[in-house]
Amino acid sequence: MGSLCDICRTIPFREIQENPDLKIKRVKLGDYDDVNQRVSCPFCCLALQSIRDVADRLGYSDTAEYLRKDCFGTSIEVQWRQQDRAFETGAFPLRYTTGSFPSLARVVHSEPVSIDPIISCLEDCEKGHQCSLSISDEDVEKLPFLRAIDVRQMCVAYIPPSTRYVALSYIWGGAPALYLQRANIREFMRPGGLKTYDDEIPATIRDAIELVRKMNLEYLWVDALCLIQDDDEDMTIGINAMSIIYEHSYFTIVAAGGITAHSGLAGVSPRNVSQVKGEIVPGVSLIEIYPIGDLLEIAYYNRRAWTFQEFHLSRRKVIFHNNMLYYQCMKGSWSEDIQGVPIESRIRYRALAPTRPGQMLYEFRLIIKDYTIRDATYQHDIVNAMVSIYHKLLGREYGGHLFAVPVVAFDAFLCFYNKDDHHKFLERRESLPSWTWSGWRGDFYWACSSDDNETLLWIADSTWIVWYLRDSYGDLKLVWELAQGQHK
Ligand SMILES: [Zn+2]
Ligand SMILES: [Zn+2]
Repeated sequence: MGSLCDICRTIPFREIQENPDLKIKRVKLGDYDDVNQRVSCPFCCLALQSIRDVADRLGYSDTAEYLRKDCFGTSIEVQWRQQDRAFETGAFPLRYTTGSFPSLARVVHSEPVSIDPIISCLEDCEKGHQCSLSISDEDVEKLPFLRAIDVRQMCVAYIPPSTRYVALSYIWGGAPALYLQRANIREFMRPGGLKTYDDEIPATIRDAIELVRKMNLEYLWVDALCLIQDDDEDMTIGINAMSIIYEHSYFTIVAAGGITAHSGLAGVSPRNVSQVKGEIVPGVSLIEIYPIGDLLEIAYYNRRAWTFQEFHLSRRKVIFHNNMLYYQCMKGSWSEDIQGVPIESRIRYRALAPTRPGQMLYEFRLIIKDYTIRDATYQHDIVNAMVSIYHKLLGREYGGHLFAVPVVAFDAFLCFYNKDDHHKFLERRESLPSWTWSGWRGDFYWACSSDDNETLLWIADSTWIVWYLRDSYGDLKLVWELAQGQHK
């Protein structure tokens, strides 16, 4: 272990370890090149190791950084900022946590993940939270049918919708996968029917089956094997039922670390954990911790359209990412690299919380803002992959939607624009109409008020347009009626 540089010597590492409530001042470490020169200082080395990782992923180099104690009171945070865009992009906090306190960092070994913490998180949730109360029995009964993989019998089975099942959220990645078709459904439904195809089941699905089996549960819902992929009617029913399927799942396995269905779940499959860690002064070791929310922000998983509703509608999530295991429900979150019990977490979209707020149009705009930069293999899926969110947010009382435009505020939602900061223009999604936001990719702003009541009053007072759409037969239909028809 080298000795600390003159700057890092002013950071009271040992005192922080002894007194978690100690107030410490921000220490400016200098910019990237400054820190890079102090190679013999263990803390500067550690700080560099993490920024290199982030710099690789985000292309960041021109940085300045500060050090401070963060709100948990026991960790040291390094913030790297890109100088000209510090306020635009925010900081990337890297947390270094001393290992000897309870509820602090933990060294994670490259062994298979243990299911015990998942089980105890689920038990806490069932006992102490109301995470599962967001969906009524009446909604579940609306499902015309539900198929799932019976992981013990290794076959596809029809199950009563009230049965406990686990759902899987993952990326297909275009790679050839085994899927349910009209030609093989009979065979797949025979007990042991999937066993014959063991080698063809993509690794992510195979690992999810394994995890469900280990947890002593019986059923797993996976789109590829539970919806008949070459049957349009079956697919439409399935896509429309997606919100119920994910919301109602006992929990959802989120394969956030993968880029295809063949990536597997690291921790069920062999994994290689690499944590940035080191001893800074004798007896004080620091480990870098990334909150799962920050990791997901830059994950490929978060760039795909379909995963948006799957993730945000699921009440409980067991997340595989960064070769580690994370758990999140509507109330708490837990991660493998932090010791202790789940900490409280915030829900990103209040509109999707069990208790929904009144400002649904406003909330819908917030969701679109995050959603619209995502990609889909087929552009038309930008609308399909959000169907469950529309149904949930813009249901009966909002009159449905047309190409993802809520008809109750049709005029207001046509008034979208691009602020043209940093010359990032909207890009066309060619297969969708240009009058809807879903026909474009980019950063949206809306001219209308952020208050739903004001938006609706504006429509009532200030517009007199009756909107029609010409349907595929050339007939003019009232927008309102079309959306109602679609919503049946
Ligand atoms: Zn240093
Ligand atoms: Zn919970």
